[in-house]
Amino acid sequence: MKRILVTGGAGFLGSHLCERLLNGGHEVISLDNYFTGMKRNIVHLMDNPYFEVIRHDVTMPFFIEVDQIYNLACPASPIHYQYNPIKTVKTSVMGAINMLGLAKRIKAKILQASTSEVYGDPLVHPQKEDYWGHVNPIGKRSCYDEGKRVAETLYMSYHEQNNVRIKIARIFNTYGPNMHPNDGRVVSNFIVQALKGEDITIYGDGNQTRSFQYVDDLIEGFVRLMDTREEFIGPVNLGNPGEFTILELAEKVLELTDSQSKLIFRPLPEDDPMQRQPDITLAKKELGWEPKIPLEKGLVKTISYFDQLLKEL
Ligand code: NAD
Ligand code: UDP
Repeated sequence: MKRILVTGGAGFLGSHLCERLLNGGHEVISLDNYFTGMKRNIVHLMDNPYFEVIRHDVTMPFFIEVDQIYNLACPASPIHYQYNPIKTVKTSVMGAINMLGLAKRIKAKILQASTSEVYGDPLVHPQKEDYWGHVNPIGKRSCYDEGKRVAETLYMSYHEQNNVRIKIARIFNTYGPNMHPNDGRVVSNFIVQALKGEDITIYGDGNQTRSFQYVDDLIEGFVRLMDTREEFIGPVNLGNPGEFTILELAEKVLELTDSQSKLIFRPLPEDDPMQRQPDITLAKKELGWEPKIPLEKGLVKTISYFDQLLKEL
């Protein structure tokens, strides 16, 4: 049994990770400031005596004795991370410094939730870990993209200078239950709109692509990455190579929800990447991992979550 800190533990991914680690027989501490997270996501875990919940902001130092840290705290949806760009940079950068400082002091192993956004609007397709990316350093997405890039720099520096044991996961678009109904990301937006019979908002012409990964696959990848051999630190892509246009996603959601919603077209947000697909050769080799849940199956599970959630609201 290990004691494990999950920052962002009340968020979409964090809540699934807390549950998975508790089920694995570990003691888990969720740390969150509830900016985009919900207590609803973890309330079912609160009866477990091995689960602790702490309200804290990662931009402030924090001390605890743990064996492992998963650093997930950071808003992930463009509308939320662009709401207060300065705070987003602070969360990524100061959050990384605080958590790496903690890991150094207590000799914990630490995993960073990095992102495919480090590749920006990629000129190389599919994206491999050795691609340096194509990021606008002063655009609307830069608070997130550059914040996450500096975080990777900090992880590598703490590893090289201070021998901190690190793992860096570059996560591609992930979806599933526990996403916030107002999250603003495409899968949750389309499902909520379809279930409510509202118009489906396609940004741009809908020909941009994303590769969508179901949350359970990612969580399996996280846990495997944390357990890889000491010398393997990443960065490693964790994503589902199945690539779809946004229009294809909209059509699938309409079909699976049996919704009469209409597609409407809205301007494409600034610097919105045109394509994204992970090359997961490295994850296959080092983690013995690949996603198992195809888009349609994952969407069905996610639709049933939102269907229930909307009835509660
Ligand atoms: P989310 O917004 O649901 O979860 C983020 C959590 O962090 C929330 O609970 C939020 O309240 C918390 N948080 C935000 N700022 C904080 C702060 N300063 N101090 C403490 N807690 C704070 O998003 P998610 O999809 O679960 O993403 C989790 C992590 O994974 C993020 O770091 C994100 O960048 C990364 N990621 C996610 C995806 C994805 O597709 N879901 C893709 C790439 C990277
Ligand atoms: N998108 C869309 N309609 C929405 C929300 C998003 O067409 O209601 C598009 C968005 O412009 C982008 C893609 O879907 O091209 C994925 O957006 P999301 O915010 O989910 O993630 P990211 O852009 O960070 O990959």
